[in-house]
Amino acid sequence: MTRPASKLVIAAHEARASANPGFAARLLHWQGGHGRRGLPWQQTRDPYCVWLAEIMLQQTQVATVIPYYQRFVARYADVRALAAARSADVMALWSGLGYYARARSLLACAQIVVAEFCGRFPPASAVLAQLPGIGRSTAAAIAVFCSDERAPILDGNVRRVLARHFGVAADPHSASGERSFWALAHSLLPRQRTRMPGYTQGLMDLGATICTRSAPKCSDCPLRASCVAYRQQRVNEFPAPRRARAVPVRKAHWLVLRRGGSVLLELRPPRGVWGGLLAVPSFPTRAALRSAVRSMSETAQVVALPMRRHAFTHFELEFTPHVVRTERAAQAWPAPANSATAQEGNIWLSLKRADAAALPAPVRTLLIDLRDGTLSPRRPTAAAASARKQ
Ligand code: SF4
Repeated sequence: MTRPASKLVIAAHEARASANPGFAARLLHWQGGHGRRGLPWQQTRDPYCVWLAEIMLQQTQVATVIPYYQRFVARYADVRALAAARSADVMALWSGLGYYARARSLLACAQIVVAEFCGRFPPASAVLAQLPGIGRSTAAAIAVFCSDERAPILDGNVRRVLARHFGVAADPHSASGERSFWALAHSLLPRQRTRMPGYTQGLMDLGATICTRSAPKCSDCPLRASCVAYRQQRVNEFPAPRRARAVPVRKAHWLVLRRGGSVLLELRPPRGVWGGLLAVPSFPTRAALRSAVRSMSETAQVVALPMRRHAFTHFELEFTPHVVRTERAAQAWPAPANSATAQEGNIWLSLKRADAAALPAPVRTLLIDLRDGTLSPRRPTAAAASARKQ
């Protein structure tokens, strides 16, 4: 019977892996001498601390994570303390770390661990992977570092190392490519469980410090002698580029309602983009924004600022801030009822506090630019005047 092509690819890479029995040994040896040591979460096998660090390290560099990790552990010493925290407090502590869905999942996961696992993280990666925010690779990392499980990790850095070292041409983002990489990663694991933490840390360290996306330091690499990409001088060809997809663009119009040195912020719904964070009211169209402003004041002047962009993983946001000034009392300017995002919990935030509030990055940048006076208006328009013309 003929085997499918994808299975042949997997088998070929596994065969190459078994032909490289020194892969794990060289990585372990290198990690012992050159890997990263002394990181705060490396001093413990407490699953709470390891889980916290691994969630923060998803798509974020070590240097950025360290102060956040330390603040979280100081404020919430264990999973029970975190599970009992208010969502707003967790979001505020996470503010600036980005990818805020991680913070929402963090709290949800802590609450499940307390409610369903008596406050103890399950040790097996297969169970961990079912909890909010913990994918297969993160689950494996937690299980390896806390209980020496023989489970492979496979994040972006590891895919890059494996693709280059074994010359894997498959697209790591395709379903068959993904299966191929997991099978390869599994075939490389050291036999002894006690070697798993050092090996896994070595893979992480090599991907982050030597086999980097651009300008890898092949001359310092412990895997150079058997690296297909290095030998064939094709390092830049691996991993195979993701097939180009058109990124959808979403447009929004932001109302920046200013009173003295403050701006009106509203609490966004718990789910969706920037869920649970404070942001300026957002409208899908310019007309909707102007209509909301007119409902609050017939004479307010709307000043449009230059359009800005913010890239999300799956779409690009194009937003135009519109500044409206008022000196009237706060209660005379409620959050616009027809804002696309209005929730209970609206506040006036002093621009001086923009650095510390739980704000999405583009909102924070906008408010800081406003505070520092580094913005130039595009064109002022009177909301009332345009209303009378219509
Ligand atoms: S030799 Fe270069 S390309 Fe190959 S694994 Fe090492 S750093 Fe990466």
